[in-house]
Amino acid sequence: MDMPVQGDTLRQHLIDPEICIRCNTCEATCPIGAITHDDRNYVVKADVCNFCMACVPPCPTGAIDNWRSVPRTAAYPIEAQLLWDELPAELSREELAAGGSEIAAGPAEQAGPAGVLAAAEEPRVQAFSTAQYCATLPPWSAAHPYLNLYSTKNATMATVTGNFRVTEAGTESDTHHIVLDFGAMPFPVLEGQSIGIVPPGTDAAGRPHHARQYSIASPRNGERPGYNNVSLTVKRVTADHQGHPIRGVCSNYLCDLAVGAKVGVVGPFGASFLMPNHPRSHIVMICTGTGSAPMRAMTEWRRRLRAGGKFEGGKLMLFFGARTPQELPYFGPLMNLPRDFIDVNLAFSREPGQPRRYVQDLMRGRAPDLGELLASPDTFVYVCGLKSMEEGVILALRDVAEQRGIDWPSLAGALKREGRLHLETY
Ligand SMILES: Cc1cc2nc3c(=O)[nH]c(=O)nc-3n(C[C@H](O)[C@H](O)[C@H](O)COP(=O)(O)OP(=O)(O)OC[C@H]3O[C@@H](n4cnc5c(N)ncnc54)[C@H](O)[C@@H]3O)c2cc1C
Ligand code: SF4
Ligand code: SF4
Repeated sequence: MDMPVQGDTLRQHLIDPEICIRCNTCEATCPIGAITHDDRNYVVKADVCNFCMACVPPCPTGAIDNWRSVPRTAAYPIEAQLLWDELPAELSREELAAGGSEIAAGPAEQAGPAGVLAAAEEPRVQAFSTAQYCATLPPWSAAHPYLNLYSTKNATMATVTGNFRVTEAGTESDTHHIVLDFGAMPFPVLEGQSIGIVPPGTDAAGRPHHARQYSIASPRNGERPGYNNVSLTVKRVTADHQGHPIRGVCSNYLCDLAVGAKVGVVGPFGASFLMPNHPRSHIVMICTGTGSAPMRAMTEWRRRLRAGGKFEGGKLMLFFGARTPQELPYFGPLMNLPRDFIDVNLAFSREPGQPRRYVQDLMRGRAPDLGELLASPDTFVYVCGLKSMEEGVILALRDVAEQRGIDWPSLAGALKREGRLHLETY
């Protein structure tokens, strides 16, 4: 892959020391030895990393998915990164220019999924990066999460108590709903958190497989209320991101598990993609494919609370994208939810005879209602699914807000500061 440089600007790959759990997965994954560590931090060598992205999906915390534009001659050196307690702020265009970056005077740059700089299609949103919009704090009313109770060194074991397909047989997307029971082992979770699954066996080099991360699809009191279990929504990976046939190690292991099998689990992970708990809070959920897992968890928790007479004021609005209804996980149960409980908007991109529709098209189509929610300080927005959806969704939020007469930069700043916009893509 080409170096992600434009003019004299480098999009430098960095690891967030505040989130990293020092699990060594990235260093073990990197095919060219671009990652190193000391007792304190894991760091990426700017002069070695070729942006292949191999390390990003296996990282159980997302700490490794961080990027900063810097003048090419002033990349953060390893020695400095090893001392960091937190990531440096994104440099302003003026700071880039002072460092000799051409990008400051040129067209707006953008970090795409592969970290490659490209001219932005939308001149009003400059230097798009997830970090610019994504909150790192949870909503003020979120419950307090437990984190990292089990690491790869002391994984706990769970028992598979359910495994069934939630996309129609015969479709390309083989997605499974998998229920894991922890028995007597403590594994407290909140909606929006994720867990790591340790697939058995070793890789081609004889090293143990690293853990892969999966969002929790069940609410805090269990897939079955009162049970010590969680559910996952797992898509069987049969092709890599370039479409070449490949058998994904962990997703195939999980999708093929029989009831009664034991599974190694690490985590839980995630301290910010958490739902608000105050009764008047509104939740806007935007997802594709298995990105529906945390949305299912939040919806089900609200449904259980509502059944107990709570949360009547808080609204739920869902934008869910898939290629066809047959490939949309949980399609049947979703359509059975009461319309006065959740406002469901489905976008299908491969419906025969229909124009392609994506979640951002639906968001623009529902601008009056979405705009009303965005105008409320009690609205919390969650985005989960394909990495490529991030920018389109942000641009749609911007357009809807502006149509409502809301100043987008102010709103975007508030959403981030107040833990009200959360992006989790992979
Ligand atoms: C925060 C987070 C949450 C996640 N939540 C979920 C979830 O709820 N459900 C879920 O199914 N997955 C989820 N994932 C993705 C999951 O962690 C694995 O990456 C995925 O299951 C593939 O793992 P594997 O071992 O089967 O493939 P690997 O053996 O790791 O990879 C095989 C090849 O496939 C490519 N690849 C990896 N992932 C994908 C993918 N998703 N689509 C296409 N190609 C891929 C790899 O680059 C590699 O070339 C999440 C990832 C993150 C970072
Ligand atoms: S696996 Fe790679 S070469 Fe590698 S993107 Fe990560 S640190 Fe860079
Ligand atoms: S894989 Fe992620 S959490 Fe693990 S050491 Fe690397 S950056 Fe840190």
